[in-house]
Amino acid sequence: RALAGVGEVTKEALGVVGQCERREHRQLDVLVDVVERRQVQEQALVEERTQALALANQQLQLISNTDGLTGIANRRHFDQTLAHEWARAQRGQTPLSLIMLDVDVFKHFNDHYGHLAGDRVLQAVAQTLNACVRPMDTLARYGGEEFAVVLPACQGPFGQAAAERIRRAIETTVVQVAPHKKLCVTVSIGGAFALQWVRSTTTLWTDRADSQLYQAKTTGRNRICIEAQPNSTVSAEEKSLLFGPLYS
Ligand code: GH3
Ligand code: MG
Ligand code: MG
Repeated sequence: RALAGVGEVTKEALGVVGQCERREHRQLDVLVDVVERRQVQEQALVEERTQALALANQQLQLISNTDGLTGIANRRHFDQTLAHEWARAQRGQTPLSLIMLDVDVFKHFNDHYGHLAGDRVLQAVAQTLNACVRPMDTLARYGGEEFAVVLPACQGPFGQAAAERIRRAIETTVVQVAPHKKLCVTVSIGGAFALQWVRSTTTLWTDRADSQLYQAKTTGRNRICIEAQPNSTVSAEEKSLLFGPLYS
């Protein structure tokens, strides 16, 4: 009987131990659940922050590549694109053209109608230019009242036609600078092709386009001067790059 009593006590004790174990398991399950839920929340937070950071980076990149006044690409972005397209054209031996534009007698507009009216003109010029170029072209504000366009896959006649389209579009753009004041401006355009068969640099290429622009200015403005598609038109500096000390 005494032994039977011990058995009862042992059973009771085992029952208590079992209850404790089950309670501990339940507590452990709750704990695991809480930890897992927190991990999911933290993961979601990390993903949300990563997306926000990527968006902020994208916006920052856009701002650093955009001209504040006109909303088109700025000089920084243009220089990068020029180098990139230049390298691509050299690899692929595809024709590539550069057009530089300068608003004619712009100082006169500023002096007569004020700087804000001048700014409106620059915005309108940028908008018109944007409508004239292909999606594959890069249009940028080169500085002040100068703009530039890089035209990939551009043969001689197309470069001339694109420049003429631009010149005419600007000439016929009417800019409302005040409630009762409308203005029209013109641009002079210079262009040059990238040299594919000789070693050159983007700086020399830009210089060639710029000297064509200068020629357009000095021969009357509101006109286009584009260098003939190259082969023979190599500057002294380019010859020196090609042949070394002979031309240096
Ligand atoms: P040209 O036909 O020879 O190019 O004559 P121009 O008067 O256009 O050239 P010039 O270099 O004498 O004058 C350029 C003017 O462009 C002077 C400058 O104040 C103006 N300009 C440059 N950047 C801006 C700008 O962001 N806003 C305004 N309103 N004017 C600007
Ligand atoms: Mg200028
Ligand atoms: Mg000018």
